[in-house]
Amino acid sequence: MPDILDEAKELEIRHRQAALDNALQRTEPEQQTLDGRIICIDCDSPIAHARLAAKPNAARCVHCQLIEEQKHGR
Ligand SMILES: [Zn+2]
Repeated sequence: MPDILDEAKELEIRHRQAALDNALQRTEPEQQTLDGRIICIDCDSPIAHARLAAKPNAARCVHCQLIEEQKHGR
């Protein structure tokens, strides 16, 4: 069996695991409202759809993310 098949399979498994991790992070109950929106872990405001589209795992709204990044000196 050519090595490339093993490699492809391993890559597929890794991608699936990453997708699974993303999905799990997105559906944390305390971060999801009843209507399916994701809320900021700091201020409880719904996170903008545009932000979630760009960063599906965003845990904070843009405002709180900026504060957080400043705290860490980034
Ligand atoms: Zn916030």
